Amino acid sequence: MIKAVLFDMDGVLYDSMPFHVRAWSEVSDKYGLRYAPEDFYLYEGRTGDSTLDILFGQTFGRDATEEEKRDIYQEKVVIFNEINSGEMMAGAAEVLQQVGNYGLETLVVTGSGQHTLIDKLNNDFPGYFQREKMVTAFDVQYGKPHPEPYLMGLEKAGVQADEAVVIENAPLGVRSAVAAGIFTIAVNTGPLPDKILLDEGASLLFHDMHTLAENFARAIRRATGHRPAQDSELL
Ligand code: MG
Repeated sequence: MIKAVLFDMDGVLYDSMPFHVRAWSEVSDKYGLRYAPEDFYLYEGRTGDSTLDILFGQTFGRDATEEEKRDIYQEKVVIFNEINSGEMMAGAAEVLQQVGNYGLETLVVTGSGQHTLIDKLNNDFPGYFQREKMVTAFDVQYGKPHPEPYLMGLEKAGVQADEAVVIENAPLGVRSAVAAGIFTIAVNTGPLPDKILLDEGASLLFHDMHTLAENFARAIRRATGHRPAQDSELL
């Protein structure tokens, strides 16, 4: 029986990914870090530190130092906060309403370390997310794509893997959730091909949150009695 829904934040609850990509691109340009804009959709879910290690690795052949991580991530956060519209993802409120109708518990599991968004959750989606039950960049050691954040989410929800559902938009987020043994619904709200999310092991895929809300009953039925590595289904 499904008891809890674990939500990713960026690209699922907030339409924030285009602004993260712009902010990452700006700081990367400034520091001469090599990237392709699409890369930031592929890295999504990683902590800022982990993303910077990749950028430094592919540019300079080494990890970023602690100082570089602190300074550059801070600059990225400042830029993001300046440009971010703060808009909720279309259809996210409808999905939460469905989750509420089923009496399921709701948690956020995010790689984000941005207080502005985390603090906004309770205003934008009142009654759904308690801070002490969130998993953020501040709580984890490894972060996605490691299963750690979603395992921590299960623990905070007090449920087993087969009693939960994850809603994710990012390939590495899907990988993390699937590795934690949880039925994972991909909502492809970005520019990446569906195949990447399905190849990571998403069991269902929707193109937007409206469609997920409309098909919520079906999704929960599919998730009930889920065994990992079931066939994927494209909707
Ligand atoms: Mg996301």
